[in-house]
Amino acid sequence: MSYDLVLRSRRAVLPDGQRPAAVAVTAGRIAALAGYDAPLDAVVDEDLGDVALLPGLVDTHVHVNEPGRTEWEGFASATRAAAAGGVTTLVDMPLNSVPPTVTVAALEAKRAAARGRCHVDVGFWGGVVPGNLGDLVALRRAGVFGFKAFLVDSGVPEFPPVDAGLLERALATVDALFVVHAEDPGSVRGSPPSPRYADFVASRPPEAERSAVATVVAAARRADARVHVLHLSSVAALAELAAARADGVRLTVETCPHYLALTAEQVPDGATEFKCCPPIRDRDNQDRLWAALADGAVDCVVSDHSPCLPELKRADTGDFAAAWGGIASVQLSLPVVWTQARRRGHGLADVARWMAAGPADLVGLPGKGRIAVGGDADLVAFDADAGFRVEPGLLHHRHPVTPYAGQRLTGVVRATWLRGEPVTGDAPRGRLLRADAP
Ligand SMILES: [Zn+2]
Repeated sequence: MSYDLVLRSRRAVLPDGQRPAAVAVTAGRIAALAGYDAPLDAVVDEDLGDVALLPGLVDTHVHVNEPGRTEWEGFASATRAAAAGGVTTLVDMPLNSVPPTVTVAALEAKRAAARGRCHVDVGFWGGVVPGNLGDLVALRRAGVFGFKAFLVDSGVPEFPPVDAGLLERALATVDALFVVHAEDPGSVRGSPPSPRYADFVASRPPEAERSAVATVVAAARRADARVHVLHLSSVAALAELAAARADGVRLTVETCPHYLALTAEQVPDGATEFKCCPPIRDRDNQDRLWAALADGAVDCVVSDHSPCLPELKRADTGDFAAAWGGIASVQLSLPVVWTQARRRGHGLADVARWMAAGPADLVGLPGKGRIAVGGDADLVAFDADAGFRVEPGLLHHRHPVTPYAGQRLTGVVRATWLRGEPVTGDAPRGRLLRADAP
């Protein structure tokens, strides 16, 4: 038997841990796992040595913005950045594109915009907004992976928030995963024009996350629905989540690289490239967020890649109130998280669980996110001991504004394979994924 490709690594990150192994690929799928030195017949046999072999990451929180705000970001640039960062599957958020993905026609417009342009596999979230409950079942049948709702202003007028009552009606309308931006508008204060980061953080306090999570928990409990809390920043919401999970409420939660790597203390005045919602909080909160990740109270880490036009970051005035909130980091998520994880005593197997298997399980993609026989041969050669300095010119997303500029990070993505073939950035081979209809 001859394989198309064999990749050997002394640091292969398999579902049961890290060990030397050879991964054999046929027709885009992982066909066999063998010992590092096993004699295997293959068209291409590549020995990565001490460079780690990871499953391709699954990033379920990416705002591509095409069509409609393609000048902010598009499928070609976002997926090229993803591949360069070791992300082989992303799921696109339903907003910031125009139209937002709240009807089947809008989903088809997204697919038309994405088709032939994606360097990695791409799936789509649908959205819940006031007035589209009647579209949810059809969207689910058309293959969205679930539905996003905001409890607070989303930042764009065409994707208004829902209140607790409408969220609960949506949960009862369709059997699907709901993902929620959980900040309570009642606890979010208007922020005055200010270049002081502390003013911005004070306008979106931990209580806004805690009380919104309480709303989400109550709705999930009453509707017996599956709900996922997006981009958790504050640990104040964790007790509520843990108690509900212990009761069997079907809740999961994600956090993002910036909450794990950046702190409020280090944000200079006027540095609006650090603005995101909910905000980056203080170091003590960050330590407790890491503890929650380590003990499984937080399920996964995804980027919340949310770019915009550079001028919308208002670097001219440094006004946090006026600046767009969003950090575009799909390309840097892996080294950002790994740099911190390793300092805190975690291994690559932990990172793969948080950033590959965890998100794949969240959206129900069993063939993604792990190096296992039968799965897609989406793989990453990751030089976990090498370092680099973040130069915005290295970034492939459309406008390389980044709070990580100038930082030294550990871990370099040497190569990315999508279904057994290297992603080169030339011919896009990404597929558009559909969730199985219920
Ligand atoms: Zn987002």
